[in-house]
Amino acid sequence: MRIVLLGAPGAGKGTQAKKLIDKYQIPQISTGDILRQNVTNGTPLGKEAKSYMDKGELVPDRVVLGLVEDRVKRDDCKKGYILDGFPRNTAQAEALDKILESLGIPLTAALSVDVPKDNLMKRLTGRRTCKKCQQMYNIYFSPPKKEGVCDKCGGALFQRDDDKEETIKRRLDVYDAQTAPLIDYYKKGGILKSVTGVGGIDEIFKKVCEEITK
Ligand code: AMP
Repeated sequence: MRIVLLGAPGAGKGTQAKKLIDKYQIPQISTGDILRQNVTNGTPLGKEAKSYMDKGELVPDRVVLGLVEDRVKRDDCKKGYILDGFPRNTAQAEALDKILESLGIPLTAALSVDVPKDNLMKRLTGRRTCKKCQQMYNIYFSPPKKEGVCDKCGGALFQRDDDKEETIKRRLDVYDAQTAPLIDYYKKGGILKSVTGVGGIDEIFKKVCEEITK
């Protein structure tokens, strides 16, 4: 199972990816998470990426492609993987196809999680993540029992730098202009599947599983 998750920022790709990992025991490859880790660790790559991420712009393709190519070649990807937040534009999608073609293991599906625009803003501004275990919350829809504290591990919750309103607007515009065309790209490639990302997390997950195993 080699899947690309498509959907606007805030559509719930990360949440669904985490459930897929548990169920199918395959890794999630989130370029956003890898980049954020580099930013936190202050690596040269992180320093370069931060200026783009803070503005809600895409990090240059050459940076992201190198990361993904290394990652999909690792042993734990032999059984499959879930790409979350990659590809983000047509050039990345074409480059990914080439890499996978050379490895002889093409994608099995591109799953689009569809959420209406007016829902996305509240999802993104309300998003909080646990520093320790990465569990996600939303202060409007799924708040923790105690404000600012993770229910699961007691860790402190934080808001991503790029989940501030101005940056969010830019990220949504970038999605429309550069990432949304990938829906057509994978439709033409014959591997597009879609689910609505509105409703309960488990209800959406049920549909996700039905689609990817069809
Ligand atoms: P995400 O967590 O997927 O929403 O990504 C957060 C930010 O990381 C994005 O707004 C971009 O600045 C950067 N980023 C993540 N994935 C990519 C990618 N595939 N290509 C370029 N930039 C990316």
